[in-house]
This record gives sequence, structure tokens and C-alpha cells, in this order.
Amino acid sequence: MNDAELYQSSNALQKRDACQCLEEFAATIKWKNSGDRIIDIGCGDGSVTTNILKKYLPHNYKEIVGCDISEEMVRFANEKHSNFDTKFIVLDIEGKLPEALRRSFDHAVSFYTLHWIKHQESAFSNIYDLLSEGGDCLLMFIGHMPVYDVYRLLARTKRWRYWLKDVDRYVSPYHDSQEPEKEIKRMMEKIGFTNVDVKSKHSSYVYDSIEAVKKAVKAVNPFKIPKEMYHIFMEDYVNILRDMRFIEPVNNNTDGSVHVRFSYSLLVVSAKK
Ligand code: SAH
Repeated sequence: MNDAELYQSSNALQKRDACQCLEEFAATIKWKNSGDRIIDIGCGDGSVTTNILKKYLPHNYKEIVGCDISEEMVRFANEKHSNFDTKFIVLDIEGKLPEALRRSFDHAVSFYTLHWIKHQESAFSNIYDLLSEGGDCLLMFIGHMPVYDVYRLLARTKRWRYWLKDVDRYVSPYHDSQEPEKEIKRMMEKIGFTNVDVKSKHSSYVYDSIEAVKKAVKAVNPFKIPKEMYHIFMEDYVNILRDMRFIEPVNNNTDGSVHVRFSYSLLVVSAKK
């Protein structure tokens, strides 16, 4: 998922959820109200950072840094959205944290990113280390999402077994958890976070055509399916959606139009250092 142009044009769900999360929780962030420094982890194309997050910051914040593991995303974000107080850098939140970034931020936020990360404890420790004393974080990521079940079903088929062999690498670490809230709270308290609050929120999103689903799936597809096979992959994907009854006819089924409904849960975490 390195295609920033494509992501930018098909991330309506992610944008809606970032907005809802900030609407609900931005007021609970303890802004310093002068000179706040904020890092957005997994900023992607930078549009949520600049068009959504910024609206919720105190007007006299000092700096926003968006970071992402993808060089292409960071290049795109810098071209489109950087200015005197906003910049984008390459950083793997699961990797070794550069010394210069330690204790550099008053607030860390992250939207739709941490479910990509296998070593959760490394990422959360790095978030802790990015924060200055008294800093806080607001993190939102996927808990349970039926799309992962679609991937797993495809991975069991003869046709896709090879291409989706590492399917579990891309499934949220919390997809199969019974009590993700407790798991995350325990991990964060062990790292040293205080005031840890983890909520699981149910949500759903309706795409108004199969084409819209295909575009959204393509924008976040982690599998290296050969180009010439991709349309068959998508056909098989849509057939599974149909079997799982995610596709609903609309307009009394007269004109063939459909809605595709995804129900999923998001984890929203806030904590202090
Ligand atoms: N926050 C944006 C983008 C979410 S897409 C939004 O809400 O629209 C998820 C992003 O996480 C992708 O751009 C991906 O490159 C990034 N990402 C995945 N693994 C990462 C890691 N280990 N460190 C930093 N960013 C990562």
C-alpha cells in the first residue's frame, strides 16, 4: 500500500473515522495551548494530518510531524502538505527510534496504522519514548474486521494460497482477541503509560457500489499479486463478500445496484506518559 494518489482518493472510511475519533476525544487531550508539538504516526498521504487533525489543534501549536514507513507516502505528503510548521519524515514505528526524536513530542496521535504492526510492544514503547514527560497519546486502529476473514478464506484456496501465504502478517493482532482492551491496557501499563483508557467501538461503513469497494481494497492491499491476476483476485474477493452476505441489493433490486456493508470494531486508546 504505497500508492499515495490512490490512497488519497479512496480513504473516505479512514477519514470519517479519524474525524469521529477527534470529535469525541480531542477535547480530552491536555493541550499546553502554546507550543504543542504533535507527531502523527502512520500519516500516509498526509491528508488526515493536515485537513483533519489540524482543525482540532490549539491555534498556537508549534509543530506537527507526520511519520510513515513508506518513503513514497512521505514524499507525497511533503509535496502536498508540508509548510513552516508541518513536515513529514520516514520512520518505522516498530524499529529502532532515532535518538533525536526521543522525548520530542507533547502529543502522539495515530489513525488506522497500528493494526499493521506485529510487534505491538515495540511500537507502543517507541510511542512512549517519543513523548516528553507528561505527554499523551490518542491512537485509533482496527480491532476486528471481516475483511481479514475474506483474506484468510482466499488464502485457503488453491489459486491464492501462494500469493497470500503470509496472510496473518497483515491481520490485525486484535482480530481474534476476546478482550483486546485488557490486552492493550496491560501492555501499555507495563511500558510505563498511565491513565490508560482503551475502548472498542463498533462501526459500519456502506460502499454504494462494488467498484467503490474494489478501489478501497486496492488502496490498502498488502499482497503482491501479479498485475495480470489482480482482476481475478478482485472477482474472487467480491464473490466471498457475496457469500458472506455483505452485498445488499437496493432499489427493490430493480436496477442491479447494491450496497456493500462492512461492520467492524475500532480500538481507541488514550494514555499519558
Ligand atoms: N493515518 C492515515 C494513513 C493510514 S494508512 C489515515 O488515517 O488516512 C496506514 C499507514 O501506516 C500507511 O501509510 C503505512 O505505510 C503506514 N505504516 C504501516 N506500518 C508502519 C510502520 N511500521 N511505521 C510507520 N508507518 C507504518
